[in-house]
Amino acid sequence: MFDKILIANRGEIALRIHRACREMGIKTVAVHSTVDADAMHVRLADESVCIGPAPAIESYLNIPAIITAATVTNADAIHPGYGFLSENANFASIVEEHGICFIGPTADHIALMGDKIASKTKVKELGIPVVPGSDGAVRDIDRAKEIAEEIGYPVLIKASAGGGGRGMQIVQERSELETAIQKAGTEALAAFGDDAVYMEKFLQKPRHIEIQVMGDGNGEVVHLGERDCSLQRRHQKLLEEAGSPALNADGRDAIGDVACKALSSLNYRNAGTIEFLYEDGEFYFIEMNTRLQVEHPVTEMVTGIDVVREQIKLASGAPLSFSQEDVTFTGHAIECRINAESSDDFTPSPGPVHTYHTPGGLGVRVDSALYAGYSVLPHYDSLISKLVVYGASRNECLMRLHRALEEYVITGIETTIPLHQDIIKDPDFVNGDYNIHWLEKFVEGRING
Ligand code: ADP
Repeated sequence: MFDKILIANRGEIALRIHRACREMGIKTVAVHSTVDADAMHVRLADESVCIGPAPAIESYLNIPAIITAATVTNADAIHPGYGFLSENANFASIVEEHGICFIGPTADHIALMGDKIASKTKVKELGIPVVPGSDGAVRDIDRAKEIAEEIGYPVLIKASAGGGGRGMQIVQERSELETAIQKAGTEALAAFGDDAVYMEKFLQKPRHIEIQVMGDGNGEVVHLGERDCSLQRRHQKLLEEAGSPALNADGRDAIGDVACKALSSLNYRNAGTIEFLYEDGEFYFIEMNTRLQVEHPVTEMVTGIDVVREQIKLASGAPLSFSQEDVTFTGHAIECRINAESSDDFTPSPGPVHTYHTPGGLGVRVDSALYAGYSVLPHYDSLISKLVVYGASRNECLMRLHRALEEYVITGIETTIPLHQDIIKDPDFVNGDYNIHWLEKFVEGRING
């Protein structure tokens, strides 16, 4: 087992990884930018190294600085968390070239899944159903028009190198197609340095359901069930649940099995998530994330498996500590992402936190690096806390979530707590009757009264 792990991240996820290390008797090294010197992840770590100024490009994305920090502190392994360098294949290779273990998949798998066109082609070959669309990049407008006619409008133009919900264009009809493809290509080139775009049928009312998997790199792959992440604004998730209100145990087993078989033939290593759209009882692959995800705690609550601990064990060369039969799903869990932004118009709300009081009690978990007196920085992601609630049933979970949101006090900045309070009261949400477009409409209705 590792003696010391460097955590190449900040905020709640750095703390989450630190906690797993502590419980495993592993020492931690925090890295931080100059403005993060007082951050909780720095205070709790055994050692810390300043890796650069506030802009992420000069600190949390600064590969030479992070490798140097790992070398001077003698860290055996690096956990990248999510975001920043977590899906950077080049970073994963450089880490390993320096004799340091990268806690995650192989650089080849990160590169394969980071290219949306290549990954879609690959998973289709491996038997995973995909959204109907172009086979590969669209380059020829006439061919694109033919494909669009075949799959039917509306269609979606997506960037192969896209991510974070950026670089997508909906096309309602034939006359808009050519301009949309050109625009998407230009935007993709500017944002991601790659102009390849592809086309998919735009699904009208799908849910976003994803499957958490873990592999040992030798063909053993186990799934930890699904998360329903349909509540999104601008393609960004806001609330997630496990299990999905739309899926029963048979449905979960079936898609879980497909995912495991496909990744087993790739000899997939460490944690990963296969994201699907789910409409009329059918699953359609959209992408795979080769890293730990923000919403992993809901899976931990219903399976009792510590995903980060398992990632660390696998990276150290241990076999999976459970087989598929050992994984059981009990109760229900919901995660609310608390962002430092207005609940009405989502304008960012950085600044000092005056009062900070977290909810507690049975079945309540708060993953956050916030404390009273801390100042939320404008330089980074607005996610400041994840309130994760467990209940024996979905109804119990909802009742508990009501009271936990009521107990949560954060003053000095605006947060998304009031929005979550309204969402979980809505009859559609209570009935589990929502899809990926639901939240945008809900938010509009809420603002317009
Ligand atoms: P990103 O990597 O940018 O997050 P994804 O491919 O994962 O892009 O898609 C993000 C979100 O966009 C999905 O969760 C879903 O809400 C929406 N989306 C993606 N593909 C489609 C599609 N074919 N039809 C409808 N919505 C889609």
